[in-house]
Amino acid sequence: MSRVTPNPAQIDRFAKWMPSSGQVQAFDFCSGGEGVLFPPAGAAGALESFFLNAAHQYGFWYMEDGRYTQPMIAAVDGVNRKGSDYLFYCFQRALNHQADFFSIAHMKKMTDADWDAVFHDDHGQNPLPMWPEHLDLIHQYVDWFEQNESTPQALIDAANASEHVLATFLELVGQVPGYREDPMQKKLMLLAVILENRPEGFLRVNDPEAAVPIIDYHLQRSALRTGLVQVHDDDLRKRLLARAEVSASDEHAIREATYRAIEALVKQSGLSVAAIDYFFFTNRTRCPEMTAPQCEVCPVNDICAHETELFQPIFRTTAY
Ligand code: SF4
Repeated sequence: MSRVTPNPAQIDRFAKWMPSSGQVQAFDFCSGGEGVLFPPAGAAGALESFFLNAAHQYGFWYMEDGRYTQPMIAAVDGVNRKGSDYLFYCFQRALNHQADFFSIAHMKKMTDADWDAVFHDDHGQNPLPMWPEHLDLIHQYVDWFEQNESTPQALIDAANASEHVLATFLELVGQVPGYREDPMQKKLMLLAVILENRPEGFLRVNDPEAAVPIIDYHLQRSALRTGLVQVHDDDLRKRLLARAEVSASDEHAIREATYRAIEALVKQSGLSVAAIDYFFFTNRTRCPEMTAPQCEVCPVNDICAHETELFQPIFRTTAY
């Protein structure tokens, strides 16, 4: 038996509960954060902003001596913002300042110091872990579009004009630095979900069957705690409980089992990848990293395995 496996009985429980709960639906990446975290509907430059943004949705946590210490939280314009929200805020701050900020033509002119300043917090520091990796991916991304004489709009237009829109999008954008590195396509599928669900309907998906699960560390933590996946290796289980760094092969075993569990959940529930992903993304606040899970207010309390001490694999990657 593999070290980590999807749990069919638990997947079945979730697949029955999710469609009937009324609590599982896709997010539009606009409501509740317009002009602050997300561009308002129809805002100039939104497509280019999301295109770069999703490629940088990874690694918002700190590690010391081979152990997870805490999530990245920093104060920006007087508000403490965590990880992904911090990144969205900084992107939107730049876009509010200049509508063509994330155009390839403008980004070509930016220096490394300019990029660092985009992510400055209230102390004038850039708190993003893995900043060298971010900077490298930004350079590769801009160079790729320049060398291919392309733009995000050109890739979207080509996908929308094709017979299988999502499949074409995944193939075309899957060649762009920042998206091409991850075989499980987490950031790529996140971008597709954003562009499909935005009020502008940038991506007109006609082939939802091409969607793939979006497996990040929040989802892996939820999958382990809810019992959607099970760990059968005592040493690996101990490492997860201790929040200790794991090998690439252990990380792959957990992420791959979670991928297969979510794939089965999508199929059995009939819900979209976007809806299931948003449910687990919101679950990160009920089932967080540093404080005890709030099981009593969690909608899946009755069907959860309550493996509350388990933690996502601690592994540095630009994939998620
Ligand atoms: S019931 Fe508790 S352990 Fe299970 S997902 Fe909800 S908060 Fe986490």
